[in-house]
Amino acid sequence: MSNEKLKFNSRLIHGGGIKDDKGSPIVPIYQTSTFIFDNADHGAQCFSGEVDGYIYTRLRNPTIRALENVVAELEGGYGGIATASGMGAVNTIYMGLLSAGDHMISSAAVYGPSRTIMENQWSRFGVESTYVNTAELDKVRDAIKPNTKLLYIETPANPTIDITDLEEAVKIAKEHNLITVVDNTFSSPYIQRPLELGIDVVFHSMTKFLNGHADVVAGMIIAREKEMFEKLHNMMKNLGCNMDPHQAFLVHRGVKTLSIRQERANQNAIKVAEYLEQHPKVRWVRFPGLSSHPQHEIAKKQMDSYGSMISFELEGGYNAGKILMNNVKIALLAVSLGGVESLIQHPASMTHSKVSPEGKLKAGITDGLVRYSVGIEDVDDLINDLEQGLAQI
Ligand SMILES: *Cc1c(COP(=O)(O)O)cnc(C)c1O
Repeated sequence: MSNEKLKFNSRLIHGGGIKDDKGSPIVPIYQTSTFIFDNADHGAQCFSGEVDGYIYTRLRNPTIRALENVVAELEGGYGGIATASGMGAVNTIYMGLLSAGDHMISSAAVYGPSRTIMENQWSRFGVESTYVNTAELDKVRDAIKPNTKLLYIETPANPTIDITDLEEAVKIAKEHNLITVVDNTFSSPYIQRPLELGIDVVFHSMTKFLNGHADVVAGMIIAREKEMFEKLHNMMKNLGCNMDPHQAFLVHRGVKTLSIRQERANQNAIKVAEYLEQHPKVRWVRFPGLSSHPQHEIAKKQMDSYGSMISFELEGGYNAGKILMNNVKIALLAVSLGGVESLIQHPASMTHSKVSPEGKLKAGITDGLVRYSVGIEDVDDLINDLEQGLAQI
């Protein structure tokens, strides 16, 4: 049976299509920088592309390729490009798709470094950018200029959990000939597959859900079409932000349990969100699965489940946030997300502490905002942990 016919969970285990010639069911770690050619002709054919051979690990490596193939199949794309980190993927996309004089429109609430490197560094090379709340598509329309080339969307967005309607965004992009990119880190292909909705390029910080064990930093770009794949693959090879074979082996091992990890985390998250929503010390909760979420209907339409990222606002602002951080015992006080362990953080005193008050307001970062990445522990323990922590406020 070809992989084409396999369903999602089977692809996690059997996807990739790289068979080891010694019979190992696990793709071995090809911990090598270079590959031996059979003879001069074979070398020439590898370089010309006549044969699909391996030359040098920065260009391609079987261990890395197995992972690229699996994730590309999960997202429904032509091909995957593994990178050293999520930021390696972001910069490969910027460099591959934008030139001096081009303009990009992006979600305002994006992963911080994706925005700061654009505004502080890519601007030095003449790339312009505008940040709007892409959940409000009128704002996207208003921001389009004659030189707009790229529409870059993070949905659900970080840390506001705003959701952008991807089908509608694709319609706008088509009218104006824009390339569309989605940061799918918060969902993973288990929950949301933007390429199926017409998006051109998807990428991940695989540091998060795809690896899922908080022990590797890694990224992946997936392009829907061959031409786009080749353009970005060529860029990554020469930028040199390639993945390492050992890193690929670890992420591949994590990917196999993506569905069962996320299923449990998603079920836990629904219960944690419902618990928080009725708590008197919590002003509001943002979780796509709650009917109180402003884009709950869009989430229902484009996501298969609601993920495990929750944001909530405490009564009592900044100090309340610090008290909760100092009193939770099971959720670990750490940034990052998407691992088997629950993680909690307070953007106002941590990730966004250096952002100006106006900047925080624009990005939706309030003083009592808490971000919680729900793990796969027993949910009663997670709720009891929050209960005793909230009681200290
Ligand atoms: C973590 C993260 C990134 C950056 O990925 P790294 O692997 O840390 O380089 C990009 N986007 C989102 C949404 C993230 O959470």
